Amino acid sequence: MKTKLIVSCPYCKENVEWSGNKWRPFCSERCKMIDLGKWASEDYKVSEKSMDESYATGFSIVKDDI
Ligand SMILES: [Zn+2]
Repeated sequence: MKTKLIVSCPYCKENVEWSGNKWRPFCSERCKMIDLGKWASEDYKVSEKSMDESYATGFSIVKDDI
């Protein structure tokens, strides 16, 4: 039995398949770049480890400027 995991792109909310998606959890390079650029410019750091969990409920944001 094969299970398909579908995630919704954090940026545009498009449903995308998790496996085989090189831009996951985004639907495309475009969304990934926009989103990463946004974080970088606002000087946010998203913890890599909690990333997968966080996408379900939203980002957990750690501001690293202290
Ligand atoms: Zn997208």
